[in-house]
Amino acid sequence: MVLARVWSVALSGVDGIPVEIEADIGGGRPRTQIVGLPDAALNEAKDRVRAAVRNSGLEWPDQLVTFALSPADLPKGGSGYDLALALAMLVADNKLPGEAIASTVLLGELALDGRLRPVRGVLPCLLAARRAGLSRVVVPVPVLAEASLVTGLEVLGANTLAEVVAWTRGDQVTLQSPSPLVAPPTNDQPDLADVVGQPEGRWALEVAAAGGHHVLLAGPPGTGKTMLARRLPGLLPELTPDQALEVTAIHSVAGSLAADSPLVAAPPFFAPHHTASIAALVGGGSGLAKPGGISKAHFGVLLLDEAAEFAADRLEALRTALEEGEIRLARRDGIVAYPARFQLVLATNLCPCAPPRDLDCVCPPQVRRRYIAKLSGPLLDRVDIRVRMRPITAMSLSLDSAPEDTATVRARVVEARCRAAQRWSEHGWRTNAEVPGPTLRREFALPREVTALLDRSLSTGAITARGADRCLRVSWTLADLAGEPAPTRDHVVAALNFRERKVA
Ligand SMILES: [Zn+2]
Repeated sequence: MVLARVWSVALSGVDGIPVEIEADIGGGRPRTQIVGLPDAALNEAKDRVRAAVRNSGLEWPDQLVTFALSPADLPKGGSGYDLALALAMLVADNKLPGEAIASTVLLGELALDGRLRPVRGVLPCLLAARRAGLSRVVVPVPVLAEASLVTGLEVLGANTLAEVVAWTRGDQVTLQSPSPLVAPPTNDQPDLADVVGQPEGRWALEVAAAGGHHVLLAGPPGTGKTMLARRLPGLLPELTPDQALEVTAIHSVAGSLAADSPLVAAPPFFAPHHTASIAALVGGGSGLAKPGGISKAHFGVLLLDEAAEFAADRLEALRTALEEGEIRLARRDGIVAYPARFQLVLATNLCPCAPPRDLDCVCPPQVRRRYIAKLSGPLLDRVDIRVRMRPITAMSLSLDSAPEDTATVRARVVEARCRAAQRWSEHGWRTNAEVPGPTLRREFALPREVTALLDRSLSTGAITARGADRCLRVSWTLADLAGEPAPTRDHVVAALNFRERKVA
């Protein structure tokens, strides 16, 4: 009897955990069992793997076949262990030499005919394999490009179980190596040059990008709120290599990577519809929980268009994510956490009837108030910049005949962000939006004459303490954009304008 050992990887959120799979044959009446916390989907693997083995011209032993997956207390689910289970059995049955795949990670679902099917989460699985010191992985060919993003591992792609078996035996079969990535990440982001008029909105977007501030764009339909919001990701700096891998890992688990250019190198953008399910927004679903929109927007931009139409539970989930930078999902077998650190853009009409231009609103005043009030409170507290978008007039169009393009504005944004990052580096913050109010008020307090207007607004109750903190944060961003070492009186006044202007 041979005790066979092979490797695969379990996923918990975006973290992979290497799983050792042992197979043993004999010791009971003929059947197949899996021990080590398999879920229902993994239990179904028994039938699938047996069929795939038989249909690949190999035998399934007419004996008791026992698979043990360890660590035993780690919940395991899904179909990604199929290939490893098949190989473990074949080694235990003396059909394959175990040494050939001793430190090889095997990932992939098997079709009944023995074809290898892609699985979600290959990138985080490989990162975990590399951390664990495993040197080689075999993955289904369709995810080969994704797998090749992880350096320092030998990555091989196979189409069928039979190919992997022949390769393990040392037959003249070569598995595919990844080809160098040909398709560069596409830059199909819309340009700011397409937005005419709306100088206030454009400036607000630039300030938001420079400081990492969340933004509220409020105004009647047809004022270009969505158009403007879609141009925010283009103003943000490229992701660092580590950030890119982190974002790509989330999209890998979500199953939303492009097969030919899998690396997410630019800040992602996600705009869920207000009727989207809570699972689509924050994550969930059966089996391996899928990350939701707020995690797909990690290190990028999340746009809530018609924000006031989102149900209260959606907005509440969003507030939690904004506070914690991640979302925790309760699962039957524990809690899974996905990162969700995004820049939020709320776009909203001013009332439910949303009258097109030239028509008057027909909503009673209390309906108008309630509509915007839905967004207020804890969620809006975190939004530093609020802009009232006005209808575009012929006059504003002629004043702004050659709008700046994204590249020009982004150059200023990147410079401003560098200044902020340098200032806050010893505190661990990258953007002004992350800096807590007490730090701004005490450690980085501004001279009294600079904040005079802010202090007066505070003492008369025209602005709340939280509102004052938001104003200070935006003041620093305005100073960074102007290349000044600290905010001036004018910056504070301009920052006050970003929030004093009544939205409703
Ligand atoms: Zn109305």
